[in-house]
Amino acid sequence: MSIHQLMIEPTGDAIEVAEGQTILDACLRAGVYLPHACGHGLCGTCKTQVLDGEIDHGAASNFALMDFEREDGFTLACTATLLSDVTIEADVEDDPDARRIAVRDFVGTVVGLENLTHDVKGVRIAIDGAPIDFQAGQYINLKMPGVEASRSFSIANAPSDGRHVELQIRRVPGGVGTGYIHAKLRLGERVEFSGPAGRFLVRKSRGGPLLFLAGGTGVSSPRSMIFDLLEEDYAEPITLVHGVRTQADLYGRDEFEALAVGHANFRYVPALSHEPPGSSWSGERGFVHDVAKRLYGGMFAGNTAYLCGPPPMIEACIAALMQGRLFEKHIFTERFYTAKDCAEKPKSPVFKRL
Ligand SMILES: Cc1cc2nc3c(=O)[nH]c(=O)nc-3n(C[C@H](O)[C@H](O)[C@H](O)COP(=O)(O)OP(=O)(O)OC[C@H]3O[C@@H](n4cnc5c(N)ncnc54)[C@H](O)[C@@H]3O)c2cc1C
Repeated sequence: MSIHQLMIEPTGDAIEVAEGQTILDACLRAGVYLPHACGHGLCGTCKTQVLDGEIDHGAASNFALMDFEREDGFTLACTATLLSDVTIEADVEDDPDARRIAVRDFVGTVVGLENLTHDVKGVRIAIDGAPIDFQAGQYINLKMPGVEASRSFSIANAPSDGRHVELQIRRVPGGVGTGYIHAKLRLGERVEFSGPAGRFLVRKSRGGPLLFLAGGTGVSSPRSMIFDLLEEDYAEPITLVHGVRTQADLYGRDEFEALAVGHANFRYVPALSHEPPGSSWSGERGFVHDVAKRLYGGMFAGNTAYLCGPPPMIEACIAALMQGRLFEKHIFTERFYTAKDCAEKPKSPVFKRL
């Protein structure tokens, strides 16, 4: 197998890339973070300029990488492979809160399987060998038998327990991978995944009050982040608004309420968007962003916000937060893209942070 050298400007990193390995995979496994999202050549987030050398664009879609961009020397790091030694210019962020952790492959055993709701499964995996080192908020890419590409799921447990990963997985209608998890995955099954991935992490260096807005299983990352913060005795106010449709879709309530009882700085607000009027529910009603606006009187300045969940929920929350005087640089997001989202809507033109 041939190996080529990849030089990355402006950082000056030099890494080895195996035949058939994508630029993105090689960078992440070397601990060099390149911005990316779909991982399959569909969204264009990982667009990179090739300064020197020959590449194969792979399965980059013609929408995410247009003909004129190919002619101008751009490629998608998630699909491009090297045909010679190559130099790229990449958008490598210098983020003081992000640790440089190389992506690795893991094997583990399913030691917990729980129906958290009618369409959300809790999965606990015990890792073989060395534990996973990750930052709260990151995700893994899980392989499943008979499912072509891996699927991304956020780690729901705190990094203090690197011997396990806990996942909260919603069954997507028509979804192959989440269909497998819900119908076929068994206790004791051996599973493979890679990670940790992503840059959704608490910017602890900023300090100050934190606002977590989560939709559905989008509460998985905030759970890890909040557990981590409270384990470290973060003293500033922390608010979690968890939006789901009805009481039947709500999970994790007992543990978050217990956490709020034990930590005066933690506030937990479940919010139901489609609960039938007149039901037994006495808590907040409405979409996450509307409930947050009510709680904060529409003014969010001074907070740092972390949004996690389906793309439409994230867009609505960003609009509400920015109307409420929170700057874009203080809003961090993890969009739970599916293949459908990537095919339909490449990425928000107004808000590039992922
Ligand atoms: C960073 C990240 C973290 C995530 N974390 C979580 C998490 O913690 N918990 C969680 O529940 N989810 C999470 N997700 C979402 C999760 O990855 C998806 O729900 C999952 O990949 C769906 O896989 P699937 O195989 O079931 O669906 P797929 O089979 O991939 O299909 C998804 C949907 O798209 C349709 N579809 C497929 N291909 C196309 C196409 N080309 N054009 C149009 N429609 C198409 C399918 O019919 C289906 O409705 C996360 C996503 C990301 C990006």
